[in-house]
Amino acid sequence: MADNEFESRRDGVAAQLAGRKLDAFLVSFSPNLRYLTGFTGSNGNLLLLPRQATLFTDPRYQIQAAQEVTCRVRICKGPLVPDVAAAIGKLGLRRIGYEPARMTCDLLDSLQARLPMKSTLVPVNGCVEGLRMIKSAGEIALIRRSVETNSRAFETTVSRVRPGMKEQDLAAELEYRMRRLGAEKPSFETIVAGGARSALPHAQPTSASLATGQLVVVDMGALQDGYCSDMTRMLFLGTPSAKVKRAYRAVLEAQLAAIDTVRPGVSTARVDAAARKVLKSYGLAEAFVHSTGHGLGLEIHEPPRIGKRDKTKLAAGMAITIEPGVYIEGFGGIRIEDTVVVTETGCEILTPTEKVLRVI
Ligand code: ZN
Ligand code: ZN
Repeated sequence: MADNEFESRRDGVAAQLAGRKLDAFLVSFSPNLRYLTGFTGSNGNLLLLPRQATLFTDPRYQIQAAQEVTCRVRICKGPLVPDVAAAIGKLGLRRIGYEPARMTCDLLDSLQARLPMKSTLVPVNGCVEGLRMIKSAGEIALIRRSVETNSRAFETTVSRVRPGMKEQDLAAELEYRMRRLGAEKPSFETIVAGGARSALPHAQPTSASLATGQLVVVDMGALQDGYCSDMTRMLFLGTPSAKVKRAYRAVLEAQLAAIDTVRPGVSTARVDAAARKVLKSYGLAEAFVHSTGHGLGLEIHEPPRIGKRDKTKLAAGMAITIEPGVYIEGFGGIRIEDTVVVTETGCEILTPTEKVLRVI
């Protein structure tokens, strides 16, 4: 990412300060720190003013911060809070925005206790997340790479799946492959669940062996250069029944219908409704128990949400997942998920993996 990209992101936050009557904004949430400065360490506070920004961190990150960070860095000897409070006092800042959803009560209390009398902390939600929703060309390139790594890891692993393989072993193999292909780690805990357990939308892999006659859900994502991918594909061991085939067709049609609505200006609720309408026509409306998708980028789940009540208007540059599913107790679950990017005229499906039910 070019240095001036970080600077223009900070300008994007600074531009929101006046409207909220803020003198500064204090950022402590790691993905937001990374987005605004390039810093990838786990302990940092960014004090952002209209024309200056300082990242406070500790001596463990001295060398790393010097290499990564594109604004001023202050290395603090002990906890960061006293130094941040002192800087707020020295700069005479009165109203300082902070991230209530991201800051611990402890940190807030300790900061409050050290602030000068005339300074107030003001909770501000979504200031950075709003900017993060629209990805730059550089970010989309990173997401694309993460998606490609993920799909390659899936392809090289799935060809070796056999009945008798443990869910945990398949998950471990998928994660090993993605790391060998360049990922730092999975973007979330890989889901592998066979048979009736595939009906648990967020199943954790167990020591159970995959068996003939089972549906197997594989939901996996890579984290590469800080950016996430997310994909779900279905395997079937043996010969799928007519009921499995019909449910698979329903989910695939729902997924394609949802993708078909994705373009700038369309509300996320409409994308969700498109998937729901198809499943309803198959009598499977009740079996679709979650929302149709979510934004992703530096985090695996970030705005916008693509659900029944979400009114966000899609815009070019958003990276989202489309992942309808049906979950039937005792039978199993089917979900199909791609990572897509909203373009000026519609969307591009980044996930290259074919969407057939893989019969093994
Ligand atoms: Zn997923
Ligand atoms: Zn997802």
